[in-house]
Amino acid sequence: MDTKTTPKPSPAPVKVAEHMEAHDGNPWRQAMEQLDRAGRAMKLEPFALERLRHCKRILTVSVPVKMDDGRVEVFEGYRIQHNMDRGPAKGGIRYHPQVSLDEVKALSFWMTMKCAVVNLPYGGAKGGIICDPKKMSKGELERLTRRYTAEISIIIGPDKDIPAPDVNTNEQVMAWVMDTYSMTLGYSCPGVVTGKPLEIGGSLGRREATGRGVFYVTRELAARRGFDLRKAPIIVQGFGNVGSNAANIFAEHGCKVVGVSDVGGGLYDPKGLDLHDILHYRDTHDSIADYDKAEHMPIDKFLELPCDILVPAAMENAITKANAPRIQAKYIIEGANGPTSNDADHILHDKGVVVVPDILANAGGVTVSYFEWVQDMQSYFWSEKEINARLQDIIVGAFTEVYDVHLKEKVDMRTAAFMVGLRRLGKAATIRGMYP
Ligand code: NAD
Repeated sequence: MDTKTTPKPSPAPVKVAEHMEAHDGNPWRQAMEQLDRAGRAMKLEPFALERLRHCKRILTVSVPVKMDDGRVEVFEGYRIQHNMDRGPAKGGIRYHPQVSLDEVKALSFWMTMKCAVVNLPYGGAKGGIICDPKKMSKGELERLTRRYTAEISIIIGPDKDIPAPDVNTNEQVMAWVMDTYSMTLGYSCPGVVTGKPLEIGGSLGRREATGRGVFYVTRELAARRGFDLRKAPIIVQGFGNVGSNAANIFAEHGCKVVGVSDVGGGLYDPKGLDLHDILHYRDTHDSIADYDKAEHMPIDKFLELPCDILVPAAMENAITKANAPRIQAKYIIEGANGPTSNDADHILHDKGVVVVPDILANAGGVTVSYFEWVQDMQSYFWSEKEINARLQDIIVGAFTEVYDVHLKEKVDMRTAAFMVGLRRLGKAATIRGMYP
């Protein structure tokens, strides 16, 4: 097929001043602006670029749940498959009051990019339910998960779309997804979801994988930039799956983690925090905010504390044009998806701050999810040593590729990562051609 027969002009360049107000905050618009910037820098086929500006499939579902008090509450949920040119779609499920269609679209797009950057044979997807899981009982969460799974079961499956955990979902939620889907089939189907408990086909190393990937990219960055990682004070925002594991793995490697936070508040000690003790505290309390062996910091000032390395590992838009000028870190490693608004990105770039983008920095999770899926399909399970070695190979390889493009093309690391991913996506789209 001649792709030149379907030309659409690339969108006109967006001037920074023009989009400053409009784009700060909406993740989908921010994602599309990132796509345009990289697409222009590498002169991507307009055909491939245009396809990536649209999600392949968007499913909105209503999820009725019988609450503990007998009422029926109906929640809105989504499952979005952004692109499947390189393989089945892959992406997490988020439970949060601020879930929105545009957020899930952006997250599904970033999954497409992420899988292409680390060269996994997957496309991108994401799911979410607008709910406040902190106010729901375990029984309500189970019923919510099972009904949502039944509603999206028409588009998920081990060859089609494989969910995983994200904000406020965990191994138990994945077990309910796997069980519900398997019940409709009549046999066990572990490959429908990753991030499951080990007992039902989960993978060793999956729980720590995103944090471990964050550590690998930071270690590689230190090697390329020539600084001593063990002497660089680190702050981690968010103490859930990604943040707590990243902080712990940094500490295990002799690094100095001086700040950690969760939604309740931040902890800071310039001499270094005792991660082992804080993790233990977290396991026995709702929040780390009341831990009393470190200085307490309000979350709105937390990212501005002195450090060399900042790991935002909570939600989107943690760093915006409002706080970017006051960020003291020299390096930002995006553990979360979309934690830096595009406006903040420009400000940080002008200040000389290096941002390792989400689609590279937090790709360790989907990489070990891929290993879990492969193991499930083979019913043959690998050792943790083997998994971590393979994870390291993939993340270090992707980091090297992105860093080299960043140097060669003289673009920031986000644009470089997009260029690496878009090259693969562009080729896949062109080779497959367009149906019919
Ligand atoms: P999680 O639910 O396990 O943890 C989220 C953490 O962020 C909690 O500790 C919460 O208290 C904290 N938080 C929320 N708002 C905050 C705020 N304003 N300030 C400080 N802390 C705040 O979620 P997670 O799985 O760790 O995901 C975190 C981010 O990483 C999300 O952007 C997610 O999409 C991304 N991510 C997750 C994975 C994964 O494997 N779980 C993989 C790649 C990317």
